[in-house]
Amino acid sequence: MDLTFNASELAFRDEFRAWIDANHPGEAPDGEDEAYGFRRDWQRRLYEGGWAAVHWPKEYGGRDATLVEAAIFNEELARARAPFPANVLGLLLAGPTLMTWGTDEQKDRYLNPIMSGEEIWCQGFSEPEAGSDLASLKTKAVRDGDEWVVTGQKVWTSGAQYSKWCMLVARTDFDAPKHKGLTYFILDMEQEAVQVRPLVQITGEAEFNELFIEEARIPDANVVGGVGNGWKVALTTLMNERAGLAFGLQVGLKVKLDQLTETAAARGLLDDPVVADRLGDLHLRCEILRLTAYRGLTATMKYGQPGPEGSLTKWMWSDTNQQLMQYAADLLGPEALLTDSPWSYELLRSRGNTIEGGTTEILKNIVAERVLGLPRR
Ligand SMILES: Cc1cc2nc3c(=O)[nH]c(=O)nc-3n(C[C@H](O)[C@H](O)[C@H](O)COP(=O)(O)OP(=O)(O)OC[C@H]3O[C@@H](n4cnc5c(N)ncnc54)[C@H](O)[C@@H]3O)c2cc1C
Repeated sequence: MDLTFNASELAFRDEFRAWIDANHPGEAPDGEDEAYGFRRDWQRRLYEGGWAAVHWPKEYGGRDATLVEAAIFNEELARARAPFPANVLGLLLAGPTLMTWGTDEQKDRYLNPIMSGEEIWCQGFSEPEAGSDLASLKTKAVRDGDEWVVTGQKVWTSGAQYSKWCMLVARTDFDAPKHKGLTYFILDMEQEAVQVRPLVQITGEAEFNELFIEEARIPDANVVGGVGNGWKVALTTLMNERAGLAFGLQVGLKVKLDQLTETAAARGLLDDPVVADRLGDLHLRCEILRLTAYRGLTATMKYGQPGPEGSLTKWMWSDTNQQLMQYAADLLGPEALLTDSPWSYELLRSRGNTIEGGTTEILKNIVAERVLGLPRR
């Protein structure tokens, strides 16, 4: 891949840069709900400016941005230290999944409110006994006329407390092999039969939740990609998750590394060759991650869909982010551990990086088998 931007990519970058300069939302307020509302307002502003979903086709309200332009968009957002839009799972996962598998009615109904942030989406995949081995999930859906009746439990459902819709995978055929008996649904979260209970994380936030589903109703029209085809549809969601986040995350990582380097320089710590060497190593890792993320784009351009290469960037990002946060704590000492230090939040939050969106062990298996072509054990 050619890593220099052409004239129209540079024009795209400059236009977005100027727009962010004029519309930057400033610092997020304190408080979980307040910060979420702030990101939701930010998404509305992006939407009104035509910037909420640049990678979506024009017919769905996007800008038809090329993959490189979409990467530039994420890089610029992170560089300006502007927040991610609130409906990140809708924009990166639900939208592209509906574009690939949804009916025309589903695209007409759901895509625009995803983009404007009017309807937030969450991802109801993981269960207490089905995380890495997602296909063994037990939530069941039984047909009742032109509806489905769903009962089961989901866990780690990020943003469920704000969501109108859930990408839900449930078992609809109990006799079929486990990957074949699944169906992908759009579940309306606003019904009595769906209870959302927050789970408090090590950071003190309740970013994710348990979902208790007791005979919830889903109309047949909300099946995505056909009954029994849920595994394939879920894979589209997962591939988009790993590839889609790669760009924003790797630039976010670089921004934090630059902050740490600036702090170290201001305190004269860079004169210590051990510190300089460690920070240099982290810079090197960030650069490798950036180039690998661009290499993943080449594969997406070739095959039209993100492929297993996204697993490599997700793995490298989580590993490097954890190293960086641990090093910030080592370098800055006890002050980095105080509750009002942003580094203490980052250190604690980074523990989840090697679990969310696929654990590192699972990603290594994917890279070994599907990228390197190594034999399965
Ligand atoms: C911050 C955060 C947000 C999340 N948000 C969501 C969300 O919105 N929606 C959602 O559905 N889920 C979400 N998850 C859940 C996440 O996808 C799962 O935690 C993850 O897939 C692992 O599943 P598990 O927790 O059941 O662990 P398990 O699958 O039980 O794994 C336990 C351990 O065994 C290892 N292991 C398992 N199988 C293998 C294998 N075959 N080979 C080698 N090692 C193996 C794992 O790597 C792990 O170390 C979130 C998780 C986190 C941390």
